[in-house]
Amino acid sequence: MNEKGILFDIQSFCVHDGPGCRTTVFFSGCPLSCKWCANPESWKMQKQLLFADTVCKWEKGCRACKTVCPHGSIQFTDNGKPEINRDICKHCTTFECTDICPNNALRKCGKEYTVDELMDILRRDFNNWGCEGGVTFSGGEPLLHHPFLLEVLKRCYTLQINTAIETCAYAEPEIFLEIMKYIHFAFIDVKNMDQEKHLEGTGFSNDLILSNIELLKKSGWNGRLVLRQPTIAGYNDSQENARKLMEFMVKNELYEINLLKFHKLGLSKWNQLGKPCAYHAHGYVTDEKMQSLQAFYLDHDIACYVGDHTSF
Ligand code: SF4
Ligand code: SF4
Repeated sequence: MNEKGILFDIQSFCVHDGPGCRTTVFFSGCPLSCKWCANPESWKMQKQLLFADTVCKWEKGCRACKTVCPHGSIQFTDNGKPEINRDICKHCTTFECTDICPNNALRKCGKEYTVDELMDILRRDFNNWGCEGGVTFSGGEPLLHHPFLLEVLKRCYTLQINTAIETCAYAEPEIFLEIMKYIHFAFIDVKNMDQEKHLEGTGFSNDLILSNIELLKKSGWNGRLVLRQPTIAGYNDSQENARKLMEFMVKNELYEINLLKFHKLGLSKWNQLGKPCAYHAHGYVTDEKMQSLQAFYLDHDIACYVGDHTSF
């Protein structure tokens, strides 16, 4: 009852995260660390400092953050730019700098919510959803917050709220299956069918993810599952990977996949976290390649949606 979760965003009126109009809840914290991640601010299960140097007023002589930081984390270099010691900031609980920054160049990412607080927001949005919509739990990885999420899902069940999840399914099987009992619609990411490549791109093997999907299918779960693949040139756009994924899907009686073309919209967030993105110079999968992958799945009787065209 007293569970809390850390969320980094809550968005209303979402139409690509499940059926109908939805409220999407973004959890902080992810077990994977995908090199191409569009939401790297979601990796840590804690509040984080974002710094957008493009809107910082240092050239106008602003030094407010240095003055207010109680830990001496911000120094100004010889050319006048602020330099943040993130080793200090990761232990900060107060984030005074974000309150004083005049242009929101410094922002706190992540906020703690109780179950009651989140349910109040969902109730506020209830009338936006119509008869098909509801709430989608995304992230980061919602399964990392399982006691909190379970409590929220039980309340949603009581209120007959439609529930969806966007997950990498990297969790203890018992936890995964318990959460999925309360989910009507799921997008589950399969980044790569090759174990080594999965490890290389995400930091972990795909064993647990694939076995959780198999367990879910065997469990008699009666929700709708669409697999999802961020499609990245030279990483998982090969015919060989598509063939292995198609075989896995057919074996497990899964007939829907959503291919998302890798994009770089998250690059500014890597910069704001002070982290280099390994994929900053990476090329894109061509439209022709996306079409040929789509045709391949369709040829095997698997509905394949590209981009935000998943049919709900
Ligand atoms: S997050 Fe905390 S430690 Fe870091 S600069 Fe801001 S006030 Fe200082
Ligand atoms: S308070 Fe904000 S705008 Fe001013 S120097 Fe610090 S980061 Fe830049």
